[in-house]
Amino acid sequence: MRHARGHYGRKVGKNEVSWNDSPMLPSIEDLELRNASMNWLRERTRDGELSVHYIELAEGFSFQGVRRPLKDRQRGIHSSRGFGTAWTITTTYREDGRERPYDDAPGPDGLLRYQWQGKDHDHPSNRALRNSMTQKLPMIWFWGVAPGEFRAIFPIFLVAEEQEKHQFVVDLNDQWETAAVGAESSELVKSYREGTVRQRIHQPVFRQRVIRAYETQCAICGMPRAELLDAAHIVADKEPDGIASVPNGLALCKIHHSAYDHDLLGVSPEYRVVLRDDILEASDGPVYEHGLKDAHGQSLRFLPRRRSLLPDAALLAQRFDNFLAAPVPPHRPPDILFKR
Ligand SMILES: [Zn+2]
Repeated sequence: MRHARGHYGRKVGKNEVSWNDSPMLPSIEDLELRNASMNWLRERTRDGELSVHYIELAEGFSFQGVRRPLKDRQRGIHSSRGFGTAWTITTTYREDGRERPYDDAPGPDGLLRYQWQGKDHDHPSNRALRNSMTQKLPMIWFWGVAPGEFRAIFPIFLVAEEQEKHQFVVDLNDQWETAAVGAESSELVKSYREGTVRQRIHQPVFRQRVIRAYETQCAICGMPRAELLDAAHIVADKEPDGIASVPNGLALCKIHHSAYDHDLLGVSPEYRVVLRDDILEASDGPVYEHGLKDAHGQSLRFLPRRRSLLPDAALLAQRFDNFLAAPVPPHRPPDILFKR
């Protein structure tokens, strides 16, 4: 029996379906609806910087004079009514440590997976997903960053279905035509795709979870502007694949984040801020004095209210040891720098 050849230049078995197996043309109105919803989200989230609440998604936006909700109350898979195609999918927020930590990890090819609704191949939601795949429709993925709060990731595409595992393969790139889905992908393609997953999902979701846990304040100085805050990793992700948990993070303003990452300051497992000796000895203007030197010896001033979200003492200890052991770069006064 002859197997169909998928778009990826690889044989597609009977239980795997690629999006080129039975290509169908999407309806123009469906495409317009998706396009309009993505524009609305872009504006609403300031180009993806802000999260969006369930209530706004349920109210939806106005399209050709009709309100169109972007998310269903119960289901993770939301179809665009009248077209029989899946429009948005949702990954619900899970509190750190409560569930398998890395079920959002990419597959062997570096691409993420999205589970069917239940196990029924012909469930209307699964058929809607399949239709979106064969029509190559751009979709929206809502990732929970807090109960009822989501980060919107779009456009995404379903590029294959693994029926035995009851899941679809999701691509976040526009480069999907270049290489195979499945275990055969080259290391280069895999790492490129994983980089995209990190950049488009893992880092932003980690950022929003951490900044939210710290109620939009720098742990050291209390800076309350989201634009000036980062989510710093305490230790680099050991698992390159998943989203780091909040206890491996600190909400820090740009200055304190940079100072932390360059070992100008450390945070002890007892939550005390310690500046490197040469930084303490120098004197270089008001930001330096108040922003950095005043923090020396202080405890972290702003921490999550929930115990389960507090920075992990063991991770802090590991990082603090590195800070204490880090070599101090030689201080070079200007007369040496400019002498010829
Ligand atoms: Zn700060």
